[in-house]
Amino acid sequence: MNKKLTLFRTIMLFCMVSLFFSCSNKQGQEQPSDTAAFKENPDMEYRTLGSTGLRVGVIGLGCGGFEEIDSATSRELVTYALDHGMNYMDLYDPNPKVRSNIGYGLGDRRQEMIIQGHVGCFWNEEGKYERTRDVEKCKIGFEDLLTRLHTDYIDIGMMHIFDKMEDWEAVQGSDYLQYVKDLKAQGKIKHIGVSSHNAEVALAIAKSGLVEVIMFSLNPAFDRVQSGNNPWDPKTFDNMLPGIDPVRVELYDYCAQHDIAITVMKTFGGGDRLLDAEKSPLKVALTRDQCSAYVLAKPCVKVVLCSIDSASKVDEYLHYLKATDEEKDYNAALNKQTALVDNGNCTYCTHCAPCPVGIDIAKVNQLLDKAQQAGKVTPELAAEYKALKHHAGECVQCGQCEGRCPFNVAIREKMKEAVKVFGY
Ligand code: SF4
Ligand code: SF4
Repeated sequence: MNKKLTLFRTIMLFCMVSLFFSCSNKQGQEQPSDTAAFKENPDMEYRTLGSTGLRVGVIGLGCGGFEEIDSATSRELVTYALDHGMNYMDLYDPNPKVRSNIGYGLGDRRQEMIIQGHVGCFWNEEGKYERTRDVEKCKIGFEDLLTRLHTDYIDIGMMHIFDKMEDWEAVQGSDYLQYVKDLKAQGKIKHIGVSSHNAEVALAIAKSGLVEVIMFSLNPAFDRVQSGNNPWDPKTFDNMLPGIDPVRVELYDYCAQHDIAITVMKTFGGGDRLLDAEKSPLKVALTRDQCSAYVLAKPCVKVVLCSIDSASKVDEYLHYLKATDEEKDYNAALNKQTALVDNGNCTYCTHCAPCPVGIDIAKVNQLLDKAQQAGKVTPELAAEYKALKHHAGECVQCGQCEGRCPFNVAIREKMKEAVKVFGY
C-alpha cells in the first residue's frame, strides 16, 4: 500500500513539475502567431518585426495597384507574392473594391499573410476615402475590412496617419484611442502600430510606448533635412536642405534601441520619382535595388512596401534579393550627386571611421547638430553625449578621418566645436 502511495505521489510530483516548466517556457517563449502557417522561403530575406516577434519578408506589398485589377488577377498576384516569400502587406485603403480584391486574392491563404490594416479609414457616402477619428466611422471601416478579408483579426492595427503633433495630442484620452486598445484586448488586432510621414510626431508616438510598428515614409531624398519645422513637401521638395535630418536619425535610433519596427512607404520617392534623374530632387536616377538597400540598411527597418499590379512588377522588387553588392551600392550613386548639396555637412554616414582614439564621429556630429538646432544642450542630449565611450575632447587632431569623408566635413573643427558645446 505504502509502495503504491509513494508511486502515486512520485507521478503527481512529476506531473506538477512538468506543468510548471511547461508554463514557464510558454511565458518565456514567443507565442506562436496566427500566421505560423507561413513557411520561410529560402529565396527571401526575413527579419523579425520588432517586439511582435513575427517573421517578415523584407519585400512586402502595399495595396496600391489593387484598384486597377480584377479579382482573378488579384488572386494570381497574391499567390505569386506568397509563393515568392512575400508575407507582409499594408492595407490602408477603405475602397471596397481594393479590399474585396485583396480578400479574394488571399483566398484560403489569409493566415500566411501578415496584414497591417488601418483604423481610421472610412469610405464615405460620396464614395471617397476619408481619414477619421470618429469612432462610429472607425468601427464601420474596421468591421468592413474584416468582412472583406474574410477574417476575424488583423495582425497589426495601424492608427491611421498622424502627421501633426496636434493630431496626436488630440487623441489622448479619446474614444478613438480607447477603441484601438479595445480592439487589441478583444484580439481583433494582435499588435498596435501607427502610420506617419513626420519624424517628430512618429518619434513622440514611439516614445509613448503604445506602438510596436511604425509605417514611415523613408528614402534618400526624404531623409535630407527639411528647413525649419515645416513638414516635407513630397510634391516640390522645396524644403530640402543639406545633410540628414537629425530628428529622423533619432527616430531610427530610438526604434532600433526599443525594438519598434519600421515598415517603409515611399521607398522609391512616391510615383517612382527617385528612379528618374529629371524628376528626382537628388538629380540622379537611383535603381530600385539601391533604394531598397538604402532603407534596409537601417536596423529598425523590416519591410519595404511595394505597389504591385503585375507579376513582372513583383519581379522588379524581388530583384533586390539577388542583386550584387555593386548593384545595391546607393552610396556610389548618391555621393557623386549629393556631394554638392552635402558639401561640408555631416550626413552621419560613418565613412570616416575608424578614429584611432575610438571617437564615434558620426554620433558626436549628430549630437552637436541637434544641440545647435535646439539652441541648447537639453538634458537628454547631455546624457547621450555622456554615455559615449569617447568624447570630442579626446581628439588628437590627426586628420585621418577627414581623408575618408566624402562630404568634406571639417571634422577636426567639429570636434573642437563639440568640446565648446558639451564641455569635454
Ligand atoms: S582627427 Fe580626431 S576625430 Fe579625426 S580620426 Fe583623428 S582623433 Fe579621430
Ligand atoms: S564626418 Fe563625413 S564621413 Fe564622417 S559621418 Fe559625417 S559625413 Fe560621414
